[in-house]
Amino acid sequence: MGHDDVVVIDDVGLDGLIGALREAGFEPAGPVVRDGAIVPGAIRGVGDLPRGWHDRQAPGHYRLVHSDDRRYFAWAVGPASWKAAVFPPVQEVWRAWERDGALVVSEPPVAGAPMAVIGARPCELAALAVLDGVLGRPPVADPGYETRRERAFLVVVDCAEPGGSCFCTSMGTGPAAADGFDLALTELDDEAGHRFLVRAGTDRGARVLSALATRPATDAELGAREDLLERARAAMGRSLDTDDLPGLLARNLEHPRWDEVAARCLACGNCTSVCPTCFCSDVRDTTDVTGEVRRTRTWASCFDLDHSYLHGNAVRSSTRARYRQWMTHKLSTWWDQFGMSGCVGCGRCITWCPVGIDLTEEAAAIRASDGTFGPGSTAAGAPTGSARVAP
Ligand code: SF4
Ligand code: SF4
Repeated sequence: MGHDDVVVIDDVGLDGLIGALREAGFEPAGPVVRDGAIVPGAIRGVGDLPRGWHDRQAPGHYRLVHSDDRRYFAWAVGPASWKAAVFPPVQEVWRAWERDGALVVSEPPVAGAPMAVIGARPCELAALAVLDGVLGRPPVADPGYETRRERAFLVVVDCAEPGGSCFCTSMGTGPAAADGFDLALTELDDEAGHRFLVRAGTDRGARVLSALATRPATDAELGAREDLLERARAAMGRSLDTDDLPGLLARNLEHPRWDEVAARCLACGNCTSVCPTCFCSDVRDTTDVTGEVRRTRTWASCFDLDHSYLHGNAVRSSTRARYRQWMTHKLSTWWDQFGMSGCVGCGRCITWCPVGIDLTEEAAAIRASDGTFGPGSTAAGAPTGSARVAP
């Protein structure tokens, strides 16, 4: 079976796919309902998937509702992303001890079976590609990240029901799965029944698929996929004008909008915690009485005051500076640093911000009065002759 073939499986076939991946040595994981949200978790079969569940999302708002819908994937992304599976929130980096007068350093191997992700969304694969650009880049690729990423088998599902905070269409990351997957599914449920169109994106994906009972997709089914994607594009909850967005933010670093958003922002770090591309981390060394030293890496947030602490001072001491750093990094300076956007338009930071701050709204507000608030200008727009950016 080639990469271009589109075939059809039903519920039993999806269950068989999960079983086949387990037999091949993968640990299947997928979306599950836990604590009132759809989050990644271990699954044994289709019975663990969130069939009939839908989400209602808006700035600072997330609720699940259930219906008799037969679909498993009729929802948008929840608070937790697949980032944690390849870049764990807490991770031992190395340990060291003395033996016979010499220092021994050991890096722990990546534990556990490789993961098979069932039901990632296209924006989440885009987020993994962004993380690859940060953590997976030779010659300084993070070894644990690289191993987890290479071993993972990825089954993506086209997005049929975007949430109220989604804007992947603006960022070019969805709702269709374009690349970066082993297998891609489209869930259809119409008068012809509940079923999945399946495409292989890799040779190993094609091998797994060829072992399942499938039939070729009809022209009508391929057309139904196009219709589903068109409806999803039209249903995006938000949009972001990306025209010269990096330049827009770079020339508006003293815009008064930063003060307005800072007056609402709690500097809680929720947005960084839920973002599938935020990669900041901290390390801590601990020593036990035998002299063994362990270095542990934990996720960190640029909203923490200590995150920019240097030689007696925090460089970004105000909430204004920290929000501006976060948003301009995502949408502007990430391009300078990594040649791509740091935002994939998943909308998590909007939904999970306790005060409903929305970066698409902030960018639009800055665009509406663009051009008079760059470095070297006062907040009122008059040039000061100084290039200093206020903290
Ligand atoms: S900045 Fe917000 S919308 Fe963009 S990827 Fe991060 S959480 Fe998603
Ligand atoms: S923007 Fe929202 S989520 Fe992010 S730190 Fe501020 S209050 Fe918290």
